[in-house]
Amino acid sequence: MRPRKIPLRKCVACQQMLAKKELIRVVRTPDEAVLIDLTGKKAGRGAYLCGKVSCFKLAKKSKALDRALKQPVSTEIYDQLEQDFIAVEDEFIAAKDRADDDE
Ligand SMILES: [Zn+2]
Repeated sequence: MRPRKIPLRKCVACQQMLAKKELIRVVRTPDEAVLIDLTGKKAGRGAYLCGKVSCFKLAKKSKALDRALKQPVSTEIYDQLEQDFIAVEDEFIAAKDRADDDE
């Protein structure tokens, strides 16, 4: 039996490579809205972040989403995303197997 390849993506804040299910996707939709995409299936340019508010804060500080999404992201949008991020964090953590989380 061959092990299945796990697609890896890079967190735009801390640059760690992780499996897609370990990351939260932020998407820039075709009408230029920037939102969190928990399904990972929304159309648009995506950027990935670890499912941790600390990584979101790092991305906000370094403007990592501006670069990853190739469009300026305003402070208001970062603030809104941060609130959304905190709101989805618990759901996100509950959704994945905590046993393989070493932290
Ligand atoms: Zn990260």
